[in-house]
Amino acid sequence: MAATWYGLMCSRLPLASLLHFPKSVRPVLIRVTMDRVPAAAEGVRSASSFLHDKAYINGKWVTADSGATIEVVNPSTGAVLGTVPDMGEAEAQSAVDAAYKAFQTWKDTTAKERSALLRKLFNLIEENKQELAKLLTAEMGKPLAEALGEVNYGSSFAEWYAEEARRVYGDVIPTPMKSRRLLALKQPIGVAGMITPWNFPNAMITRKACAALAAGCTTVIKPAEDTPYSALALAELADKAGFPPGVVNIVTSSRTKSAEVGKVLCSSPLVATISFTGSTNTGKILLKQSADTVKRVSLELGGNAPFIVFDSADLDMAITGAMACKFRCSGQTCVCANRIMVQEGIYDQFVDKFAKAIEKELVVGDGFDGSTTQGPLINKAALTKVDEHVQDAVSKGAKVVTGGKFHEKGGNFYQPTLLRDVTTEMRCLKEEIFGPVAPVVKFKTEEEALAVANSVNTGLAGYFYSKDLSQIWRVAEKLEVGIVGVNEGVVSGVEIPFGGVKESGLGREGGKFGIDEYLEIKYVCMGGV
Ligand code: ADP
Repeated sequence: MAATWYGLMCSRLPLASLLHFPKSVRPVLIRVTMDRVPAAAEGVRSASSFLHDKAYINGKWVTADSGATIEVVNPSTGAVLGTVPDMGEAEAQSAVDAAYKAFQTWKDTTAKERSALLRKLFNLIEENKQELAKLLTAEMGKPLAEALGEVNYGSSFAEWYAEEARRVYGDVIPTPMKSRRLLALKQPIGVAGMITPWNFPNAMITRKACAALAAGCTTVIKPAEDTPYSALALAELADKAGFPPGVVNIVTSSRTKSAEVGKVLCSSPLVATISFTGSTNTGKILLKQSADTVKRVSLELGGNAPFIVFDSADLDMAITGAMACKFRCSGQTCVCANRIMVQEGIYDQFVDKFAKAIEKELVVGDGFDGSTTQGPLINKAALTKVDEHVQDAVSKGAKVVTGGKFHEKGGNFYQPTLLRDVTTEMRCLKEEIFGPVAPVVKFKTEEEALAVANSVNTGLAGYFYSKDLSQIWRVAEKLEVGIVGVNEGVVSGVEIPFGGVKESGLGREGGKFGIDEYLEIKYVCMGGV
């Protein structure tokens, strides 16, 4: 089989450049400027010039009121990269006030003006993408080639929404009364509160914020505590692009203080909408907290994606898809294959080929090492959880085909793992694994596969491989998910509606759909005509 590893969500980066990432783009010594801090000695190797030690509120770089900070750690080496402010209720409130004030004028800018600023932001991200990718690898751990893929994906939202800003049309509604004219206007909803995860520290911010900014909304963004630097780097670029003070605000917080910030965003009457990507549990908390102010809430939550391989599938294609879908980002994406189901006629063959591909293609290590395809897990808690999934499965009868242990490199590294003879009783089939563990279940019939796939209360992505056209239609329609990959394992992109059904979320991000999350429809009736 040809080399199949690729770790990006964006088709704009040629595959060849991912397979052999040039040494010339590896990290160099960082520049230090007024708002930037030097990285710790070990961090210098892996840090970039965008390390900000302050948050960004109302166009200013600011510390926490108390002066408290949190450390940002490279999950690959354990080295402290630097610190960011640990902000809570008061700072969140001042960011909301700034965003609300800025909204009063930002909403009246023309679509063309907003488009021009987003275009500048896109250009700046493009100019700085190598540095942004290094920063992302340093704080998150994913391989540099994958980080560059994410930055490309991230910038594509600035480009897309620069274009989309100018295509927000209302309607003229045919009138039932001669004296009246009826209109539907689209207007920005207001201040958008955003809470983002660590697994895509760049793109989850641009996917939300660029849509909001295009619509005419202002933003308060709370990035994940593990990965605040990519968010602050984007703030620097937004500032350079010329977004006015208060239009983009970044509040950084520890895990504990994040709850305080979340409460302010959800309960403030000045915030019109909440957009969150993260765990289902946190999403439910935010949804409940938003009830009192009847806010619009967009949620992109956990997945537990089924990945079904039918007897008729092209086996090599299915292996390629499974490799990319399962092991991208070391298995830490909400659309990663979680429950791999293979029909009995090709089960043994699939497991055999999958094991060979895992052993041949996956290289565990530091994201800055050009040969690495599998970075570390984000932290110790994630590592422990992944191992618990493996131990639980083995104790209930699953067999380890390859991997199955903490990696000999230590730290947050786990061996890419393949489990066979997995059953629906095991924890790894009930919950998202969020790590490099591929559990493979055997099934007999299409009905059985669909019943298992739809048996969970989540439904983000689902994938299947088949060459039977009737089956393709049937299964695509019956899978209870928001995103379906048919003979494809990586299906994200800027143009498409991304989002889930059931407890996987509310609303859609990306494409022409994403901007609607930030718009209100106002009906205007003109009488006496
Ligand atoms: P994970 O467990 O993968 O970190 P979370 O849903 O806990 O997923 O985290 C995603 C984002 O939600 C992060 O920015 C985190 O700080 C934030 N977060 C976690 N708990 C809360 C909360 N109670 N209120 C607001 N934000 C929260």
